[in-house]
Amino acid sequence: MSQVIHPITDEGKEAFEAIVDPLCLCETEEETPSSVFLSSEADALRSEIIDTGRKLWERQYVDGNGGNISCRIGAGYILCTPTMISKRDLTPSDVCLSDMKGNIVAGDRLRTSEILLHLEIYRANPRARAIVHCHPPYATAYSLTGSVPPVGYISEYEILIGPAALAPYETPGTSAFAATVLPFVQDHNTILLANHGVVCWSDTITHAEWLVEVLESCCKTCLIAKQIGKPLIPIPDQKIEEILTLKRRLGFPDARIAAAPPAGENDRSHSDALDHLFRTTAERCRA
Ligand SMILES: [Zn+2]
Repeated sequence: MSQVIHPITDEGKEAFEAIVDPLCLCETEEETPSSVFLSSEADALRSEIIDTGRKLWERQYVDGNGGNISCRIGAGYILCTPTMISKRDLTPSDVCLSDMKGNIVAGDRLRTSEILLHLEIYRANPRARAIVHCHPPYATAYSLTGSVPPVGYISEYEILIGPAALAPYETPGTSAFAATVLPFVQDHNTILLANHGVVCWSDTITHAEWLVEVLESCCKTCLIAKQIGKPLIPIPDQKIEEILTLKRRLGFPDARIAAAPPAGENDRSHSDALDHLFRTTAERCRA
């Protein structure tokens, strides 16, 4: 007996689609290196990396092929700058995609050897979404003396950074070098690398670069202030406490605050607050 096939009515199609469409939405697209590398999000991040590289070079925070920039993308990948290129000359095709083990999975260039440093920070602190490493002269000068800039003197520095850490010297590009920052990455968004440079992490590439600017400006100002020959006058303790209260509320890292909240649902508001703070600070600095 032959089966009779009835054509599907319009009402039937609508009922079918009403059931199937939500099911389709539940399917998650598999994340592959090429899908991540070719995404519009990657395009935007590549532009941000290139703009940031140019800023670092124009501010003389990098020389030769020095410095590197990276950011997290997707669940398990990192966009990063390649080795052996001036940060002034980056183009979109220079940016590589690495997995969380440091293997290049998309892109034509070899990754920077200092990606190991970035990976240690990303693995240790999920709140780090972007990292800038460079060699700004004033901050690096502090690292040569085994010291960090003093806290309690410049309000913007207190709000955005607080006490910087100093990681001990190791040969750049090695696993031992990368591991030197591990004791500091939870409570410090800014780490001086002894006899080498600095590394800053934040929620975006732009914010991480701004931390470098704020650090370098603080180091320069402190050195100039010391040359005036009069004692430096600190911000009153009570006002520092107000800053720490604000940072505690916003979830900003600061070694003077006991424990920063873990990454989670409040990250969006933290990010917005950070953006606002950076914007107002940058405007004040340029005024
Ligand atoms: Zn370096």
